[in-house]
Amino acid sequence: MNWISNYVRPKINSLFSRREVPENLWTKCPECGTMLFHRELKENLNVCSNCDHHMALTPRERFANLFDAGVYTIVPVPEPVSDPLQFRDQKRYPDRLKAAQKKTGEHEAMLVAEGEMGRTPIVAAAQDFTFMGGSMGMYVGNAIIAAAERAVKLERPLILFSAAGGARMQEGILSLMQMPRTTVAVEMLREKGLPYIVVLTDPTTGGVTASYAMLGDIHIAEPNALICFAGPRVIEQTIREKLPEGFQRSEYLLDHGMLDRVVDRRALREELITITRLLLGLPPAVKGDLPPPADIAIAAPAAPKAKADARDGAGPTPAETGAQQ
Ligand SMILES: [Zn+2]
Repeated sequence: MNWISNYVRPKINSLFSRREVPENLWTKCPECGTMLFHRELKENLNVCSNCDHHMALTPRERFANLFDAGVYTIVPVPEPVSDPLQFRDQKRYPDRLKAAQKKTGEHEAMLVAEGEMGRTPIVAAAQDFTFMGGSMGMYVGNAIIAAAERAVKLERPLILFSAAGGARMQEGILSLMQMPRTTVAVEMLREKGLPYIVVLTDPTTGGVTASYAMLGDIHIAEPNALICFAGPRVIEQTIREKLPEGFQRSEYLLDHGMLDRVVDRRALREELITITRLLLGLPPAVKGDLPPPADIAIAAPAAPKAKADARDGAGPTPAETGAQQ
C-alpha cells in the first residue's frame, strides 16, 4: 500500500501533469476548431487567424493594446457595501466573489484606466466577462460613475468596453439601481460635451444593454457579438417563432440601425483614435510614431543607441560624457 501511494501514484501523476503543459500552449478555436498557438493568438489579440472569431479579452489585455505603448494608470473605484442582502444560493455571495477574484486575479468585474491613445488623452473602462459573467452590481455602477467623473474632471472622452450577462442577481434590486445611476453618469459627460464611445463585445446582454451600453454617442461592436436585452432562446420560447439567422448579432444589428459600426478588433484602436479625434475637433493622429506594447522589450534597449546617434551629430557635452562614466 505504501509503495503504491508513495511511489507509483506520484510517478503516474507526474507523467500526466507533464503531458498537460504542452497542451496549455494551444487554444482550440470554439468556432472552427483550429488549434491556435497561444503566443500567436495573443499577438492576434485573441482573434482566430483561421476564421476571425473574436475570443474574450480581459480588461488589462484591452488596455495594454489600447493605450500608447501599453501605458495607463488605474482609476480607483469606491468600494460599495459588500453583500447587503446576505444573499445565498448554492454558495454564499461573498464566497462566490472570492472564487471569482481568485480565478481572474481581479477585484471586480470592471476596470477603469486613464492614459493616452494615439496621443489623445482618454479615460477608458472595460468590463470583465470572466468575472461572474461581467455582471453589473454596485461595484460596476461605482466604476462607471468614477470613470465619468474622472473624464469630466480631466475633460477627456470616455471609451467603454462592455461585456456582461446582465445585472448581478446576488445584489437584487440594488444591481437594477445601477441602470439609472449609470444613466446619470453618462448624462454628466453629455452636459460637458465630452464624447462617450461604447464598444460592445461578445456578449453584452440584459440590464447593461438597457442602460449605459446603449447610451453612447457612437456604438461600435466587435464582429458576431451577441448584443441583446433578452436572449434569442427566451424570445423564441415566448413568441414560438423561429428567429432570423444572425438575430441579435453585431452585423444584424448594424443592418437594422442599432449600431454605428462593426469593427475587427485588430483595427479597433486606429478606428477609436480617428473617431475620438474627429469628435474632439483635433487634427488626425500622427501614425507610426509609437511602438505597440509587444515591441517594448525590443525597442527599449535600442533607445539609448538612438540617443547616442543623435548626439554624434551635435557632439557630446562634457556633462553628458561625465554622466555616462
Ligand atoms: Zn476559428
